[in-house]
Amino acid sequence: METLTRRQFMKVVGASAAAAALPSALAAKGAQGKPNIIFIMSDDHCAQAIGAYNSRLAKLNPTPTIDTLAKEGILLENCFCTNSICTPSRACIMTGQHSAVNGVYDLGGRLEPERQYLAIEMKKAGYQTAAIGKWHLKTDPNFDYYKVLPGQGSYMNPTFKEKGKGTVKMQGHSSDCITDSVLEYLKGRDKDKPFFLKYHFKAPHDMFENAPRYESYLADVDIPEPDSLWDNRNNGSIATRGHKDELLRYLGTSIGRRNIRRNYTKNWAKDPGLSDKEAKRQAYQTYLKKFLRCVKGVDDNLKRVIDYLKKEGIYDNTVIMYTGDQGFMLGEHDYQDKRWAYEESMQMPFLVRYPKSIKAGSRTDAIVENVDFGPTMLDFAGVDTPKYMHGRSFKSILETGKEPKDWKKAAYYHYWMHMAHHDNPGHIAIRTKHYKLIFFYGTAQKASVPQTPPGWELYDLEKDPYEMNNVYDKPEYKEAITRLKRQLKRLRSEYKEDDPKFAFNKVIEEFWDYDEADRARAIEISHAYRQSKERKR
Ligand code: CA
Repeated sequence: METLTRRQFMKVVGASAAAAALPSALAAKGAQGKPNIIFIMSDDHCAQAIGAYNSRLAKLNPTPTIDTLAKEGILLENCFCTNSICTPSRACIMTGQHSAVNGVYDLGGRLEPERQYLAIEMKKAGYQTAAIGKWHLKTDPNFDYYKVLPGQGSYMNPTFKEKGKGTVKMQGHSSDCITDSVLEYLKGRDKDKPFFLKYHFKAPHDMFENAPRYESYLADVDIPEPDSLWDNRNNGSIATRGHKDELLRYLGTSIGRRNIRRNYTKNWAKDPGLSDKEAKRQAYQTYLKKFLRCVKGVDDNLKRVIDYLKKEGIYDNTVIMYTGDQGFMLGEHDYQDKRWAYEESMQMPFLVRYPKSIKAGSRTDAIVENVDFGPTMLDFAGVDTPKYMHGRSFKSILETGKEPKDWKKAAYYHYWMHMAHHDNPGHIAIRTKHYKLIFFYGTAQKASVPQTPPGWELYDLEKDPYEMNNVYDKPEYKEAITRLKRQLKRLRSEYKEDDPKFAFNKVIEEFWDYDEADRARAIEISHAYRQSKERKR
C-alpha cells in the first residue's frame, strides 16, 4: 500500500466503492415482486386489550382496526416474549437471539449497528428499510431511514432523532406524530423497491397520556375486573408471597395498597378516607381507562396507514404484522407492569395479514417466540434464516396453520432484572401448550440487591388458564415436573444461559431439586428479606 500514490489510492478506493454498489443494485432487481413488510409494534400493548383475543375487555371493542388484521389474516394464540421488558425484547427481535447471546439483558442494554441483523439482512435482500417511532436500543438504527424517539421519548410534542437531520421536534401526541412520519416516509419512498418498515408506537407505555380527543372515551363505562384482582387464590409461591405471605407487602407493584412501596392507589386513589376496597377499585378503573385511551389512539392511527395502503393499491401486497413488545398485567393477580412470566405479561399479541398466502380468519396455537419474528420476516423477503439466529421462521405455519413435525414444543423465558423498579424477583420459566414451570431464583448480578426466597411454580394451563393454582407440590405432577426440568435445562444450555459467569446460575443449581434443605433455606431467606425491609421502614 505504501507504494501507491494518492491518485492511485483514490482510484483503488473508487473502484471498490463501485464494486460494492453493484451487489445492491442486483439485489434491488431481484427484490422485484417481493412483498412489502410493515412490522407494527406498540409498547406494552397486551393481548387482553385486543378485541380479537376475546378477553374480558373484548366487549368494550377496544381495537376495531387491529381486529380487522385478525379477521382478514391470522391470530397467534401462543406467542411469547423471552424476556418481558422493552429493550431486551426489541433486541431479541432485531438479532433473532436470546438475551445471554445478544448481550441485552436489561433496560441498560445497547445494540450496536453491526448487530442489528434484521435490518442488515433486509438491506442485502434489496429492501429499502426504515424505523419510525420508539426504538429504545440506545445506538442509532442501522436502517436506510430512521426517525426515532430518544430513549422512552415523550408522549406530547415529542422530539425525534432523524437520519441526516439530527434532532427534530413535532407538535401533538406521539401516536399521531409517529403516524404522520410513517405516511410521509411512505409517500416519499422509492416505488421500484419493496420496503421493510418498523412502525413503532410509544403508546400505551406508562404513564399513559392520551391525545385530548380521547379524554371522554370510556368515561362512563365500568371496566370489567379480573377475579384475581380481588382473590389471588393459590397463584404464586414463597418466591412471590414470602413464607406464609410475609412478603406480600414488598413484591410486585400492585393496583391496591398491598405493595406498600409501589402501588397505583398512590397515583389515582390518594384519598386516605377511601377503604382499601374503594381505593383499589378506583385505581383499577383509572388505570384501565388511561391505558385503553392510549390503545384507542394507536388503533385509530393504524387505520390511517391502512387507508393509505389501500389508496396506493399496495394493501394486499404488504405483509402487515402487529404485536406489542411484550404483554402487560392489567390488574390480574393485583399486578400491573410486565416482567412476570405469568401469562398476561409473557404472552405477546401477534396478528398477520397477507391475503396472498394467509387465509382470512385463521388461528394457530403453535408456540412462537419473539426470536422467531426476524427469521419469519426474512422468510417473507426470500432470505434463509442466518445460522447465528436461535429463532426459526414460522411462515409456513401462518400459511398452512400446520406446525412442521420438528417445530418447538416450548417457549423459554428469563427475566433478569431482579427487584428493579417493580419489585419482581429474577426468574426463569418454560411454557408448553399444557404447562408453565417457573423458577424464581431471586438473586441479582450485584451483591448489593438482597436475595428473595427461591421458589418453583407449576401451572396446568389446560385446567387453569389464568394460573390461579400453583400445583408444584402435588404428587400427581411429579413426572411432568421432571420432564419439564429436563427440557428447561436443555434450552438453557442451547441458549448459553447456563454460563457460570452469570451469578444466578449458582442459585439455580443449588435449588434445582428443591429438597427439604432448600425449602428450609428459602424460609430463612424469606424471614431475612422481611427483616431487612422492616429495619428500613
Ligand atoms: Ca414495553
